[in-house]
Amino acid sequence: MPKQRKAVALISGGLDSMLAARVIQDQGVTVEGVNFFTGFCVEGHTHAIREKKRAKPKRNNALWVAEQLGIKLHIVDVIEEYKDIVLNPRHGYGANLNPCLDCKVFMVKKAMELKVNAEFMDQHGFDFIITGEVVGQRPKSQRKQTMPLIAKESGANDLLLRPLCAKLLPETLPERKGWVDRQALYGFHGRNRTPQIELARELGIEDWSQPAGGCCFLTDISYSTKLADMWQSRGTRAYELDDIMLLKVGRHLRPRPNFKIIVGREEGENRFMEGYRKRFTHMISSSHTGPLVLLDGEDINRDDLALAARLTARFGQGRDAGLVTVEVHDKGVMQNMEVVPMPTEQIPADWYL
Ligand code: SF4
Repeated sequence: MPKQRKAVALISGGLDSMLAARVIQDQGVTVEGVNFFTGFCVEGHTHAIREKKRAKPKRNNALWVAEQLGIKLHIVDVIEEYKDIVLNPRHGYGANLNPCLDCKVFMVKKAMELKVNAEFMDQHGFDFIITGEVVGQRPKSQRKQTMPLIAKESGANDLLLRPLCAKLLPETLPERKGWVDRQALYGFHGRNRTPQIELARELGIEDWSQPAGGCCFLTDISYSTKLADMWQSRGTRAYELDDIMLLKVGRHLRPRPNFKIIVGREEGENRFMEGYRKRFTHMISSSHTGPLVLLDGEDINRDDLALAARLTARFGQGRDAGLVTVEVHDKGVMQNMEVVPMPTEQIPADWYL
């Protein structure tokens, strides 16, 4: 009896990786999924924070995909190791601070490491790796020339199979060995999503997540601007998980070089930010309903506090009032400040990050 072959699929939670895994499953190969948590993932965290998204189901899409496919999913925390990819990408960034090409090499390489870690798979590793990549779908990381580069630099070489565009690429080991039938794979290319959507329908898949822009916040221009601002203001390119989580919530304004404010935009964000009150100088209007505001910076003086209090008043219900009382918590001391809310037209556009 031929040996039952096993593949590990990189599962982002989007449609392509779901299809890739399903196509290989349908060829009789046992598939297990792996999802890497970098800290920048759109999945999980922010989905669960914002109140206004309540109408949408709050789910971890990678886990949901695994459930739909009936496969085991390993969620692996790579936050620490991933820092080097974000801070020093050998192949540079995409349109924003997204190091997609290095990221893909990293993830396939990490998946290869699981091969020798028997704990990860039910029984002793796997035979090959699959991803949902499509030739030409992304300008930098998914070009025909970069496909072999990812395979080579990750060390996966011909163990890396992309079922959705395999027909456009050289044969891989699983195809040569007959573990999968190349003829039943696909030759999708370009940014047009119609072939994937048609395949999904053919396979009876009717629901999938469609994150705008990509699988992580690094592709987002506003997020990347805030990250670059954080590095510049601190004078060092480094980050911790809390830093990159806080860049996902609130409105960020930098009124002075030494500090910025983070203003909760709605109840869900205010509650999330409450968890950070001890770490930051923070303020909230006490005379009117208003957002929680965190101050992130250094050498914050009384003048800075007064400016931040006026901004805090501006973003609350007291924005049109003559005076607003703002409760200021700074270095363990609470004080009330009576301030005139800053008129919208006096807030320079370049304060908004
Ligand atoms: S969008 Fe983010 S997670 Fe996806 S490949 Fe690019 S850097 Fe990696």
